Amino acid sequence: MTLDGKVALVTGAATGIGRAVTLAYASAGAKVVVSDIDDTRGQETVDLITKTGGEATYFHCDTSSAEQNDALVAHAKQTFGKLDLACNNAGVGPAPLSLAEFDDDEWRRIIAINLDGVFYGMRAQIRAMLETGGGVIVNIASILGQVAFPGAAPYVAAKHAVVGLTRQAALEYASAGIRTVAIGPGFVETDILKNLDDEGRAGLVALHPVGRLGQPAEIGEVVAAVSADTWSFTNGAYIPVDGGYLSR
Ligand code: NAD
Repeated sequence: MTLDGKVALVTGAATGIGRAVTLAYASAGAKVVVSDIDDTRGQETVDLITKTGGEATYFHCDTSSAEQNDALVAHAKQTFGKLDLACNNAGVGPAPLSLAEFDDDEWRRIIAINLDGVFYGMRAQIRAMLETGGGVIVNIASILGQVAFPGAAPYVAAKHAVVGLTRQAALEYASAGIRTVAIGPGFVETDILKNLDDEGRAGLVALHPVGRLGQPAEIGEVVAAVSADTWSFTNGAYIPVDGGYLSR
């Protein structure tokens, strides 16, 4: 598996799964544009790559902004000449409320980042990939893009929609050489789970037949693998990386 000569971008790449995706892309040989709203930790991700001889650059991008997604893609083209690979990873968890308890602001906040952000990203990335004859877009969905979860209405709605957008793009752009894949992580040890107490953590672990939560690198490796040309017949797919969660 190699991504030699490829140019990639990752959103939400300052930490967690996004950082792991970035490191996996880079170790497979891709040049990477690291983006996030956390500029300090985003630059740390760049430093992790460059100190091992890889090529990376940082660009600030709030994915809920269409303009900033356009600017991110323009930066990739300006810096490295093209865009071959993109991972729409940036996402946030909601306040844990039942559906009827969500106010408009919290609903809009989650949808703006977790759904609008993926659409704005894909639109900009597809336009760039059409110029060069193709590419691979990997969207980080979730097990909650397939099933519901208590207290997560806007998150569940957004992640189901991300799976739908992934399929839609496959239908419309496969003939143009663009592949799209949705990855469905189970619960993974990142900052998104930082407010969990021991009981909450044990409850989540119990939902995974493998008996533990995932590690970010276990998601990153799959994203890099499906992005390689050896996976050329995989398109519009939802790929679970969830320790068996959906097998329950
Ligand atoms: P994380 O909180 O560790 O990292 C999220 C990153 O996104 C941070 O660097 C943050 O600064 C950045 N970010 C937040 N808002 C942003 C915005 N508007 N624009 C750009 N960047 C923004 O979370 P994570 O667990 O690594 O999550 C990454 C993705 O994986 C998300 O889409 C999340 O929904 C998904 N996911 C996570 C889990 C899990 O259990 N950790 C499970 C399934 C899916």
